[in-house]
Amino acid sequence: RLPIVAIVGRPNVGKSTLFNRLVGKKLALVDDRPGVTRDRREGDAHLLGLDFRIVDTAGYEDEDPNSLPGRMRQQTQAAVDSADVALFMIDARAGIVPLDEEIARWLRGSSTPIVLVANKAEGRAGEAGILESLAMGFGDPVQLSAEHGEGVADLFEALLPHL
Ligand code: GDP
Ligand code: MG
Repeated sequence: RLPIVAIVGRPNVGKSTLFNRLVGKKLALVDDRPGVTRDRREGDAHLLGLDFRIVDTAGYEDEDPNSLPGRMRQQTQAAVDSADVALFMIDARAGIVPLDEEIARWLRGSSTPIVLVANKAEGRAGEAGILESLAMGFGDPVQLSAEHGEGVADLFEALLPHL
């Protein structure tokens, strides 16, 4: 079977954008408004010669924001538990927000390897967020721009030991 990579993180960090780039088809819905990806999606991904299944977590984004953490936690943990490696994505431009820290706490208890990915890192606007992300304890983030296709070789190198 193909190895499984899950993309987890709070809404609007760019999970579906990365999913679409790796699958090469518009299977995951991306929108400027947060909250438009309806379901967990899976696809066959290709990255510089690596083949794997990729899982885009979502489905909680239409929910009442007051119930978001509970639904998110279920989705995130189910995806991470079934994956060989999980990409924990943050938004480098927004920096670390409380929901990122909460997700980090869930992930610390997992036996699945976690790769921290700082997305929206094109240009210099992400530098402060990248520094902040070090404090979460997942090591140096892979600096990525899912939208512009930057950092793909670094993502490949980070995934390689786990696939
Ligand atoms: P998700 O909710 O985590 O799946 O996030 P989406 O993939 O739907 O993206 C949320 C928003 O961030 C959209 O407006 C994307 O166009 C934008 N976005 C995604 N990746 C990048 C990136 O690398 N740089 C910038 N500047 N914006 C991005
Ligand atoms: Mg999405």
